[in-house]
Amino acid sequence: MSALSKKWLRLATQNPALAWNKARTTFRNRIGARWDYSFRNGQAKPPATICIKLTNACNLRCQMCGQPRENACPGEAKYAPPEFFRHSVSLEQYQRLIDEVKFFRPNIYLWGGEPFLYPHLIELIARIHRAGLTSQINTNGMLLEKHARELVEAGLDDLIVSIDGPAEVHDAVRGREGVFARLQRGIAAVTEAKRELGSRTPVLRVRGTICPENFNQITDLPRIAHEFGADSLNFNWTWFTTAAAGAAHQKLMRQLFDIEASSWIPFLSESVLDRKTRASFAALPKQLQILKKQSVDLPISLSPHIRPDQVEAYFTDIQQTFGCRDCYSVYVKSYILPNGDVTPCPDYPDYIVGSIVQSPFLQIWNGDRYRKWRQELKKHRLFPICTRCCDLYLSSVQFI
Ligand code: SF4
Ligand code: SF4
Repeated sequence: MSALSKKWLRLATQNPALAWNKARTTFRNRIGARWDYSFRNGQAKPPATICIKLTNACNLRCQMCGQPRENACPGEAKYAPPEFFRHSVSLEQYQRLIDEVKFFRPNIYLWGGEPFLYPHLIELIARIHRAGLTSQINTNGMLLEKHARELVEAGLDDLIVSIDGPAEVHDAVRGREGVFARLQRGIAAVTEAKRELGSRTPVLRVRGTICPENFNQITDLPRIAHEFGADSLNFNWTWFTTAAAGAAHQKLMRQLFDIEASSWIPFLSESVLDRKTRASFAALPKQLQILKKQSVDLPISLSPHIRPDQVEAYFTDIQQTFGCRDCYSVYVKSYILPNGDVTPCPDYPDYIVGSIVQSPFLQIWNGDRYRKWRQELKKHRLFPICTRCCDLYLSSVQFI
């Protein structure tokens, strides 16, 4: 049986609602969104996934993180003013959103910063579950052990944790000793709570980002994910941009939308392949080949799905998009920021299309500003910043 069939079968057995939602999202990514893109002049059917960024605050300072940080000073690339980390939408405002959107049954993806720092997280998951919607959470796992049982009781469908390699590599990337062990205890606590409560959910997914810090250790991840009891493992290539792409983007955003787009600055990484990292990088294509021959019984996917001989181009030629020439994500997913603002893009939220605190979500989804973004994007094929954005590669996730 192929890895893809295995994954679907496993998911359908554990959580039919989530499997159905994923099948629907895949269909929207690959077919529905292309229809909207081609024929609907910037309009789109309601999104398959609504991503709620619950907080910008985080309890870790990971090396590869492209988000602003609380301890950065004015003038530093990752600086944001203190209120940025205090933004928070109330539970009742999220309840209004759930009530409004539940008829089209979107999947609700919760992320951050660290989503466990949002004080009403468990209650929010319970409300999403009661409304008949599926929920996913992407966490660094630092607070997982403490909340394991209530997470299972609340009805979380999909638990996504990031692991960068064996304990010493993970801790080095995450910037603190003991993070791996804490994550391990958290996952064990969730597994135990599932057993005690007789629950098949949440499904556990491990996400590994391939970055210079773990170039030499990615082949350890299938074993680690398997030992953690994960249901699947997804590798992302690290996302980054260059000064030239960023400056071109900033200029275009001024021309098209009259906005000052600066969110790319923390993702600036001219040195992804500097002299120091090149030594370990050389082994990466070989590691990718080894990964393909893994014997661990676990569906493993890669996003974007690039071949070993394309790896160098990913890091050195930012114009290369490996066959993904248009962004369909803006027809399928929507992003809500911790202050309620809605934006089409996950990591570059410079263009705001409305606020759920002020307007109904669906009014925003096909409002003038959202449509203008989709129209301009189609006209330009991609914006300069798009070439190393995770959402460009939504339909390029493939099993290896
Ligand atoms: S846990 Fe996530 S949000 Fe927090 S610093 Fe690490 S990568 Fe960034
Ligand atoms: S690819 Fe571009 S338009 Fe699409 S979500 Fe990413 S930054 Fe936004």
